[in-house]
Amino acid sequence: MNKPDYQLIIIGGGPAGLTAGLYAARGRIKTLLIEKGATGGQVLLTDWVDNYPAFAEGVSGFELIDKMTVHAERFGLEKKFAAVESLDLQGDLKKVQLDSGETLTAQAVILCTGAKPRQIAVPGEEELQGKGVSYCATCDGPFYRDQEIAVLGGGNTAIQEAIHLTKFAKKVTVIHRRDTLRATAILQEKAFANEKISFIWNAQVNEIFGKESVEAVQILHNEGLTSVLPVTGIFILIGVKPNNEVLPLHQLKTDQEGFLITDSEMGCFDLPGVYAAGDIRSKKFRQIINAAGEGANAELSAEHYLGTLPG
Ligand code: NAP
Repeated sequence: MNKPDYQLIIIGGGPAGLTAGLYAARGRIKTLLIEKGATGGQVLLTDWVDNYPAFAEGVSGFELIDKMTVHAERFGLEKKFAAVESLDLQGDLKKVQLDSGETLTAQAVILCTGAKPRQIAVPGEEELQGKGVSYCATCDGPFYRDQEIAVLGGGNTAIQEAIHLTKFAKKVTVIHRRDTLRATAILQEKAFANEKISFIWNAQVNEIFGKESVEAVQILHNEGLTSVLPVTGIFILIGVKPNNEVLPLHQLKTDQEGFLITDSEMGCFDLPGVYAAGDIRSKKFRQIINAAGEGANAELSAEHYLGTLPG
């Protein structure tokens, strides 16, 4: 076998990748973490994290990622900001092709490419993106000071961000397709107690109107009637889809939505030396703490595979 460039390459620098990187750096594994944008992943879309242990007062998504990055770097984690174009995960030498044309090799790989917000695919959504259609309340909330806006979705993201948006907007209407929220109880309590938030239950958005920017959304009520809600912005927060475009899906086992299926130790089936951690994994609960834990688990599995950790 040709000598690999690294023992371990980690792809993606969110909580899973940074935690795997921390463990690898402490384990003195020759490791490279590749990230295409800023480290942080979806946590950077989150205004405030109130459920990460040890941050009793809560912490901003930005600060949490900054602390994770500094922590991994304290042990000498090597990082590279580059876009991965393709991967070959079969065999003993894993190949990572960058869009610069460079190919890097490693004995083991941990896939931490995460997930991104889902879209609703209705008329107006694509055309008005960045002009009132948003998927990130933390990024775009301040543009809606004293305006009336809508949030689509009933999960933790939608409700947490609806509450955050009331810091800026005059009124936030949450549109949800059922009559009960999926979000955790404490978020529900806060949302129901917030005078700036109102709800439209049992309804979908089926069109977004606006010439230069969003002016209104058409609501399709479950019983079949439609109505128009005048808003200057709509935040579509209805869950996530996998960042799997550069992954060799023909080599990996995925669920119906394209998330990676692993064994209990984060190993990708039929690919020794390949692991996945964080939101790219097929699972029910996507939490920052889970992603970090899976990153640690994946790295320890990789060390076991590399023979640097006693069995
Ligand atoms: P989620 O939990 O999957 O919730 C998606 C929401 O959007 C659900 O209410 C769902 O309705 C609705 N929805 C899905 N497809 C839709 C469509 N086509 N049209 C209209 N509505 C649609 O997603 P999420 O809220 O983005 O959260 C993703 C993961 O991150 C979850 O595991 C979540 O717990 C986690 N998270 C945790 C926190 C926290 O702990 N503070 C914060 C943010 C996110 P139904 O309810 O009817 O299915």
